[in-house]
Formats: sequence, C-alpha cells, structure tokens
Amino acid sequence: MLESLEFPKEALIDGQWRVLPRRFPVVAPATGKVVAEVADCGPEEAVEALEAAVVAQRSWSRATAYERAAVLRRWHDLILAHEEPLARLMALEMGKPLKEARGEVRYAAGFVEWYAEEAKRIYGETLPSQFPHKRILVRYEPVGPVYGITPWNFPAAMVTRKVAPALAAGNSFVLKPAEESPLTALYLARLFLEAGGPPGVFQVLPTSDPEALSRPFLEDERVRKLTFTGSTPVGLKLYGEAAKTLKRVSLELGGGAPVLVFQDADLERAVAETLRAKFRNIGQSCVAANVILVEEPVAEAFAEAYARAVRALRVGDPLLEETDIGPLVNRAALEKVEGHVRDALDRGASLVVGGEAKGLFFAPTVLLGVKPESRIFQEETFGPVAPIATFQDEEEALARANALPSGLAAYVFTQSLSRAFRVAEALEYGIVGVNDGVPSTPQAPFGGVKRSGLGREGGRWGLEEYLEVKYISLGL
Ligand code: NAD
Repeated sequence: MLESLEFPKEALIDGQWRVLPRRFPVVAPATGKVVAEVADCGPEEAVEALEAAVVAQRSWSRATAYERAAVLRRWHDLILAHEEPLARLMALEMGKPLKEARGEVRYAAGFVEWYAEEAKRIYGETLPSQFPHKRILVRYEPVGPVYGITPWNFPAAMVTRKVAPALAAGNSFVLKPAEESPLTALYLARLFLEAGGPPGVFQVLPTSDPEALSRPFLEDERVRKLTFTGSTPVGLKLYGEAAKTLKRVSLELGGGAPVLVFQDADLERAVAETLRAKFRNIGQSCVAANVILVEEPVAEAFAEAYARAVRALRVGDPLLEETDIGPLVNRAALEKVEGHVRDALDRGASLVVGGEAKGLFFAPTVLLGVKPESRIFQEETFGPVAPIATFQDEEEALARANALPSGLAAYVFTQSLSRAFRVAEALEYGIVGVNDGVPSTPQAPFGGVKRSGLGREGGRWGLEEYLEVKYISLGL
C-alpha cells in the first residue's frame, strides 16, 4: 500500500521542495508504523518563507482576479483528480475511514471551487456624497501576507477553507500544518504547483516545534493576518501574541455541541443525524455532538434506537472500504476519551454499548443518564462516545445548552416549525443544524461564538476575513 502511494515529504518554500536534514516521523495511528520522515522546519526556514511571502504578495495581489481564479480552478480540478491518493494518505496519517476521507477531499475541493468563482466578485462600492464635487469610493484589497495554522482532524478541508479565500482575495499564504498530518497538506501544495501556482504564493512548512516556527511570523509586522484552527487554549495564546503587532485574526476553536431532541421530532431521523453528528471522523470533529439531551417522554425510544445504530458501526482498518470507525489520533486522545467515560460512570451514568479500547481503537460507546457536571458534558471529548441525558421542557433544554462554555454548533430535532425557529434563534451558537447533523458546506458561514472563536470561514464571510476596506474620497 505504502509502496504504491507516492507523496512529497519536504517543505515547500518559494516554489521549491526544500530537503532538510532534520526530520520528524508521521506515525499511522492504526498500526503505529512510521508513514514518512518529514522535513522538520525551524525559524530559519520560517524567515525564508516569510520573505518569499512578502515578495509574492506584491505580484499576486496585482494579478487580475481572472488569473487568480484560473489557478484556483485548476487546483480544484487536480484535487478532484487525485481524490484517491489524497484520501488514502489522510486515512494513513490520521486514521480517518477511507469513505469519509474521500468525502473530505470533495468537501475540501468545494472551497477551492467556490473561491475560484468568488475571486471575480470582489466588487467595490460607490456611495452618494452630500457634496456635488465629491465622490466616495470603497475598494476591497488583500489584507497582506497570511500565516495559517491548521489541525490534524480535517487535514485537507481545514487547509483549503483558509488558503482558497486568502488566495482569491490576492494574498500570499504560509501554512503550518499539524505535526500529525502534514502529508495531506504537502500533497495539496504539490497540486497547487502543478496548477501553475506561482512561487511564494502558497508555502507549507511542516514542523515538530510549532511554537518556534510560528514566532517569526507572529512577531513580524509585515505578516498582516493570522488564521488559526485548533484548540481554544492554543488559540487564546496565539491571539495574545498576534495582538502585539495588531494582526487581523481568525480563530476557529474548540466545540462541544449540544443536541436537543424534542418529543415532536422524527425520531428515526434524529437518530440517523445524531449518529453522523457524533461518530463522523471517529468523533474528532469540532462540531461533533458532545451533549445529547432528549425530552423525557421519548428518551427511552431514542436511546434504544440509537444504541442499535451504534452497535452496527464497524470498527477497523481505516483503509478498508467498510470501516466506519478508525483509531483515535494518538495516545493522549485515547486517554482523554477513557478519562471522560470513567468520570461519567463514576458519577452514576450507565454504559449501554462499547466502553473498551484496543490499541488506539475505542469502541463506539453510548452512555445513559449522564450527569450535567460530568467532564464529558463540560469538555470537548473528541472521541466516539455518545453521552445521553434527558430534559423536561424547552426552557430547561435551552438553559442547559446555553450554559455550556463553547458556542460553535448546536443541533435541534423537532417537526414543529415554530419550535425550530424559536429554539434555533435562542441558541447561543454560531451554527445550528435543525434536523440536520452535518451542516458544514463551502458556501455557508462556519464559526463560533464565546470560547469557540472569532470570525467565519466559508461563503462570502470567509472571503471578507482576508480583505481590507479602503475608502477613497475623490474631490472633482
Ligand atoms: P491544537 O490546538 O493542539 O493544534 C492545532 C494546531 O496548532 C496544530 O497545527 C499545532 O501544531 C498548532 N500549535 C499547537 N501549539 C502551538 C503553539 N504554541 N504555537 C503555534 N502553533 C501551535 O488542536 P488539535 O488537537 O490539532 O485540533 C483539535 C482542536 O481543533 C479541537 O479543539 C477542535 O474542536 C478544534 N477544531 C476547530 C475547528 C473549527 O472550525 N472551529 C475545526 C477543526 C478543529
């Protein structure tokens, strides 16, 4: 398998693959085997890439929107043409089941397609003046060189969701992918070069020391924007550092989504959608269902059907077609999941399905009667465990959902139109899925409130994050 898969392992700096003597291993979580030894960049490479990004920013920002769109369009086509190797690489390096990995490649390509189109629609505006001899013009300009940091859980989509709008807007972009999954990012960079992407416009620096690599970018005034997707603690730290040079910042941080299943829901649908919202990506998604609350009269029926569906999930090698649940990404992830389950059981929850681990594989698990103060409800579990509890009425459900610390995604299941609107509007979350367990899509705004971050990715909102507004007052 590995022999037939050919992929870059070096850093991409200023259009060249930089071979470095320093390497770090990328380990397949399913087998513990080393997939590749990857170039380990440090501050020296960071400075070099930064200089190249500053130079590339000038030319790329002057390229016409049509030229930028054409590169992005070709990149999109190449990503789709390489769906299989990209999906396999992802399954290998972070354990995502192959069928989901293929879906992620298409989702990732969707951002590139969307922003290839939007590049041509960055319109300025003219406003009426109160003076006959003045004209008011508003232009949208690229914000400046961008530094981006991505997580391992969606190694392709988290990259294109940032890079495509940044490039469409006329910015150069330096990416630091997660140390667990740099290979997918490097493969995407290879396809960018093949698409005719100019040197320095998109650069990728893998590293085993994210803090040291990031410092030159964070400290340099010329880097005008930091975009980060990852955990809330790291996001908070970077926010503070970026403030020193007053960079524009987008932070896509941790979630911990509540699911509210009302007694007037279509239960079969609620079960199917909550299953996807929980177990997609082995539960390692920022919008994963983390707190499942079911209205008392239907709680038993929901739990029974849910447990039945969970028992049918197939755990196994992520490279096999039939696998639904692969391994967790690493030992720390497994220990966190085990800790959350133990804590919930200690506080009186009951185990309905699963609960056991083998290697990094944690069996899909359902817990019932989970107490509100349990860690599994209060922290992001990031694993294949569905904790279920009940509520008495709409007021209680909303109060419990809004008391959670994060504010990324929430889910509501009801067939009442008025309840759907009432509850969706009252939820303090950036994304609400009503009878929908997978709301993410390239044209919609994705992002959170409260401890889930700042800014939005996707759609026109994702483009605005990479644009500055310039006002020109013209006296005639
Ligand atoms: P993480 O915060 O540990 O790492 C994310 C990235 O930050 C990685 O590339 C890592 O190398 C880098 N990093 C870590 N410390 C750093 C430092 N001191 N300086 C610079 N870079 C540093 O998160 P993770 O475990 O990779 O990802 C999981 C988290 O990401 C979860 O909390 C999840 O909810 C969140 N996430 C959010 C979204 C979203 O859109 N809101 C999407 C995916 C994942």
